[in-house]
Amino acid sequence: MAQDYDVIVIGGGPGGYVAAIRCAQLGLKTACIDAGMDKSGNKPALGGTCLNVGCIPSKALLDSSHHFEQLTHLEAHGITVGKASMDAATMVRRKDGIVSQLTGGIAQLFKANKVTHLPGFGQLLAQGQVRFSPHEGKVETLTCKQVILASGSVPVELPFLPFDHKRILDNTDILNLEKIPKKLGIIGAGVIGLEMGTVWRRLGTEVTILEAMDTLLPPADADIRKQAARIFKQQGLDIRLGAKVTAAKAHSRGVNVDVEVGGKAEQLKFDYLLVAVGRKPASEGLLAEGCGVEVNERGQVVVDDLCRTGVDGVWAIGDLVRGPMLAHKASEEGIAVAERIAGQKPHVDFDHIPWVIYTHPEIAWAGKTEAELKEAGIPYRAGSFPFAATGRALAMGESHGLVKMLAHAETDRILGVHILGPQASELIAEAVVAMEFAGSSEDIARIVHAHPTLAEAMHEAALAVDNRAIHKANRR
Ligand code: FAD
Ligand code: NAD
Repeated sequence: MAQDYDVIVIGGGPGGYVAAIRCAQLGLKTACIDAGMDKSGNKPALGGTCLNVGCIPSKALLDSSHHFEQLTHLEAHGITVGKASMDAATMVRRKDGIVSQLTGGIAQLFKANKVTHLPGFGQLLAQGQVRFSPHEGKVETLTCKQVILASGSVPVELPFLPFDHKRILDNTDILNLEKIPKKLGIIGAGVIGLEMGTVWRRLGTEVTILEAMDTLLPPADADIRKQAARIFKQQGLDIRLGAKVTAAKAHSRGVNVDVEVGGKAEQLKFDYLLVAVGRKPASEGLLAEGCGVEVNERGQVVVDDLCRTGVDGVWAIGDLVRGPMLAHKASEEGIAVAERIAGQKPHVDFDHIPWVIYTHPEIAWAGKTEAELKEAGIPYRAGSFPFAATGRALAMGESHGLVKMLAHAETDRILGVHILGPQASELIAEAVVAMEFAGSSEDIARIVHAHPTLAEAMHEAALAVDNRAIHKANRR
């Protein structure tokens, strides 16, 4: 029987839209069902969480707020400006413009590659069948040879603290505040808490972050976390660790939050409360009963290393499955699945997926942390180098932070690189390339790095692994 499509992708985020484009490039007749709508709720918008309410809009706000903060800290350069002011509504409009430019760009790419965009909900029925419930029009059953599930993730809601989207906000609401709040509470000192806390703190909001664990940003290396915590505190972020939020009540002008820290109970009052305690896979309604795809207790679709579900011809990628919830991880899985469907043998290296936190200074890492190496009993040598000892960072007035490199004690293979500092998001690429090519700290140490650049900190950290950094005193 002839099928409607070779491949149907459910979800048009960085996992799904990239998979769909790659399938089409490989000559497969492809459709992408995506439920995403733009901010007005009237127009379909491809790009998923990342383009609409995640990576891109958050970075647009981080950039605007960074400019504002810079403007008010230029005296050391001999520059004084009058009192700077910020119109949050304009900042949000600029962000919306970038989002619609990019989401419209994906629609164009679909046209150029002949991917059929089907706006609405998709549900996997039995193998080879997908129910399509369009935003407008009649429900249809479509047939195809292969299905790629890429429905992404949604914010976790605390059971006693449902989002009201007015005062108790999720990570989408916080991107759209058109007035600068006086006091913002945030639950969770993870990636979203730190990035969004940074945006509003820079604009003058008093930001308090309540974190249940005894550290911020649990997955980062301990040395980086420690220094970052000190810097964020100096910048004015009030991060309370070991905080247990017991209740919260919204009223017309704000939110009262009951919290216990170190056995001491207090009530805090905020204009808004952002709940950023993680995201969970968007698997609800995706799978019809009897479709055979397994979901684990965390709501993740169960897949193997090749993104195969247990059902022939059904694949799953991105935030919906195991592994870090990152756009680039979703996209690489999407490309690999498309190529596997086309009979190729691609490879995704899950060991070297870079993480970047876009605070200032930025945080970035790839590979193992020191604690992970210790726990695994892997012998290693560590070298680190502070940005304060590089001419370029000093000239930029960006001398906070360090590069830390971890290499195998016997083979010298680089096992992890951790950066806190200016342009960490860009610098980490060198470390990822080196690790992908099984490079050693000696390799980086022998590579000529331009002077004066921030990358010299990477070079010196590599030299420091062997106790031979030039621009700092080495361990004896
Ligand atoms: P998504 O992007 O979530 O896309 C899934 C799509 O599927 C959505 O359009 C959804 O509407 C649609 N969908 C869901 N169910 C159905 C269905 N049944 N039928 C049809 N369509 C459906 N990652 C980074 O790497 N860098 C960052 O800087 C970064 N910043 C972030 C900032 C914020 C505030 C947030 C919330 C996330 C951020 N992330 C970042 C994470 C990143 O957005 C996700 O990892 C990424 O979007 C996951 O891609 P995906 O394709 O798996 O899913
Ligand atoms: P997260 O997992 O990064 O952080 C959640 C934090 O909330 C953790 O520190 C956790 O200990 C804390 N927490 C959990 N329950 C709590 C409670 N009841 N009270 C107080 N604290 C509590 O999650 P997130 O910040 O919501 O972000 C979700 C995901 O989105 C990230 O893990 C990441 O994968 C992705 N993201 C990535 C970027 C980026 O790459 N720059 C930016 C934003 C989001």
